[in-house]
Amino acid sequence: MSDFSPHRARKRFGQNFLVDQNIINGIIDAIDPIAGQHIVEIGPGQAALTRKLIHAVGSIDAIEIDRDLVARLTHEFPVEKLRVHQADAMEFDFSTLPSPLRVVGNLPYNISTPILFRLCEYEDRISDMTFMLQKEVVDRMAAAAGDDARGRLSVMLQYRFKIEKRFDVPPTAFKPVPAVDSSIVRLTPLGDQRLRPKDETLFARIVNEAFSQRRKMLRKSLAAWVSPDGWEAIGVAPTARAEELTCEAFVAISDWALARRA
Ligand code: SAM
Repeated sequence: MSDFSPHRARKRFGQNFLVDQNIINGIIDAIDPIAGQHIVEIGPGQAALTRKLIHAVGSIDAIEIDRDLVARLTHEFPVEKLRVHQADAMEFDFSTLPSPLRVVGNLPYNISTPILFRLCEYEDRISDMTFMLQKEVVDRMAAAAGDDARGRLSVMLQYRFKIEKRFDVPPTAFKPVPAVDSSIVRLTPLGDQRLRPKDETLFARIVNEAFSQRRKMLRKSLAAWVSPDGWEAIGVAPTARAEELTCEAFVAISDWALARRA
């Protein structure tokens, strides 16, 4: 990239570039790229991960929003090795890429949760996803029933994906240095093992409602969906709070509410 002056990190694109080679190697090990696999990287930036991914698999796709970085990437890598899509990952149509697809990236923190929800739409085409995210977000994603960190994100991801936190990454691994710790997480679609609420929109609404009033007991927060006599049939204590519930319990609540509405 010698023809270019040094890139100035843009805050609005969440640009914190990885500079620690041990951490970069650790992330590549966690991804475990194998020749011939279809990999798409979200936010390749200055190619810290991209270079090693291409070395391992031969060629990859990447989605980068920053035009200046796209120019650097297309200058460094021939199109046979790197197909750069200059686009907002929030709007990109992942079904245009081959499947099964592995999705990876050191995600821009400002849009990490919306990107996760967006990628849920492509669950059937994805074999796995390995991301670096804010540690606090990964802790929420992985939080089990009963954990304080459990929230809407935990339930909405865990009923679809196996979620494995791999390791933490300190702020010193980046330039510029971010204010928060990061973690690596792997999401693997559960496929046939996935829970199937009878109405996924209703399920999502109920999960949202329960966590938006997380300090309240379910009999209050979900009063619009479950009548006082319903809790026994569902098998969930009406005095429980949202964070105590498994994904299965939320499915039981939403299936019961659907049946009552019918
Ligand atoms: N992968 C590089 C690394 O690890 O050093 C850069 C990571 S940096 C945290 C996030 C990258 O995502 C930046 O290159 C940024 O320009 C890009 N980005 C930010 N928002 C994006 C979006 N909506 N769609 C695609 N790329 C985006």
